[in-house]
Amino acid sequence: MKGLHRETSVELKWCIKSNKIAQIREFSNKGMSKTLFLLLFTMQFDFTEEQLAVQQAARDFAQTELLPGVIERDEHQKFPTEQIKKLGELGFLGMMVDPKYGGSGMDTVSYVLAMEEISKIDASCSVVMSVNNSLVCWGLETFGNEEQKQKYLVPLAKGEIIGAFLLSEPEAGSDATSQRTTAEDKGDHYLLNGTKNWITNGNSASVYMVMAQTDVSKGHKGINALIVEKNSPGVVVGKKEDKLGIRGSDTHSIMFQDVVVPKENRIGEDGFGFKFAMKTLGGGRIGIASQALGIASGAYELALKYSKERKAFGTEIMNHQAIAFKLADMATEIEAARLLCLKAAWLKDQHLDYELASSMAKLFSSEVAMKTTVEAIQVHGGYGYVKEYHVERLMRDAKITQIYEGTSEVQRVVISRSVLKG
Ligand SMILES: Cc1cc2nc3c(=O)[nH]c(=O)nc-3n(C[C@H](O)[C@H](O)[C@H](O)COP(=O)(O)OP(=O)(O)OC[C@H]3O[C@@H](n4cnc5c(N)ncnc54)[C@H](O)[C@@H]3O)c2cc1C
Repeated sequence: MKGLHRETSVELKWCIKSNKIAQIREFSNKGMSKTLFLLLFTMQFDFTEEQLAVQQAARDFAQTELLPGVIERDEHQKFPTEQIKKLGELGFLGMMVDPKYGGSGMDTVSYVLAMEEISKIDASCSVVMSVNNSLVCWGLETFGNEEQKQKYLVPLAKGEIIGAFLLSEPEAGSDATSQRTTAEDKGDHYLLNGTKNWITNGNSASVYMVMAQTDVSKGHKGINALIVEKNSPGVVVGKKEDKLGIRGSDTHSIMFQDVVVPKENRIGEDGFGFKFAMKTLGGGRIGIASQALGIASGAYELALKYSKERKAFGTEIMNHQAIAFKLADMATEIEAARLLCLKAAWLKDQHLDYELASSMAKLFSSEVAMKTTVEAIQVHGGYGYVKEYHVERLMRDAKITQIYEGTSEVQRVVISRSVLKG
């Protein structure tokens, strides 16, 4: 800001806040140094009132609706049906969808803030939120046609129903090109056969976005993305997985046995399915990165509070430097993770390339989530090892963020390809 006339800077800030890109450009043309222009244009660390209101609403919801019963839901692997219904009514399941399709019309930054708050308390809920927002709604809104949006996106964005994203198979995880599920072209419809694995919302979803191979000779360019209604004849939901963490979410394998899918349910052109999946996952990683961020900050807040209450050797344990330094490291790493998440979200909101940023955010935040939750248990001593104190659940929940929507190794493949190219 130094050196820039105050009124000019206020006017420029207003243009930036109200997204008057053309006017912002005029400022830059009027001779402002490029560095200063970029600094002002890019480094906005304050949130808008709307973003702060969304954050507060998510925080309140997590405290009042999610915290009671979270331990029991985890223990009994109980899907948070009521809580998800309320999240939908509040507009958290179609946060970034245009209001004309039933969504809340928020930006991705607001989504990150909300995901962090929900994940601090219940990551089983936030994964439902992430899949519905980032994978299902975003994929449909960006690549679906008008009829598909009216029929499927509207109820999904309103949270009247939820969706699932079906890419992984028993033999196709990181290597998603090896799809064995087939969608045979039968003229006016596809005949779907095969098995999908590890499907979040597998039983609770009404709508599936399914990737399947139509033309093997074309490799991944022969894959299609199809919208499949769960109640279609031939859809079989497999048993619920008994998981280490996010135990409230329902993860199932899904079998397709001669399922008839109308041609109008294909998303995009013939063969667009793999690109659809990769583009969608690029944004999905912002959701999982913020889930990891929330798990980490939830564990940190609990550790900080505990360190001020628990006494050892005649003083609160926060007064022991070993504990204070753990808290310092946690706070620093969480802040770095938050900035990476917000940067990826901001790039997406500006319609700039965000895929490298979202991979970095997911890689870093998930590693911070794992490290922070382990240390939060350590700060709690023996109490951290039992369910009542929440941190052991957060540690179990953290692990999945290093695995789904692209493992940490796969993120490093993506990031290294990019840095080696540059
Ligand atoms: C709880 C849960 C929920 C899930 N939800 C969904 C969902 O809703 N929809 C969906 O489609 N999928 C979902 N998944 C699947 C998830 O995305 C996959 O498990 C993940 O992509 C990894 O695939 P994989 O399990 O087959 O492991 P593999 O691909 O077999 O990987 C095994 C190991 O090898 C490493 N590896 C593989 N390839 C490379 C490489 N090229 N370089 C370096 N290392 C490599 C991996 O990083 C990993 O450490 C979910 C999984 C779980 C556990």
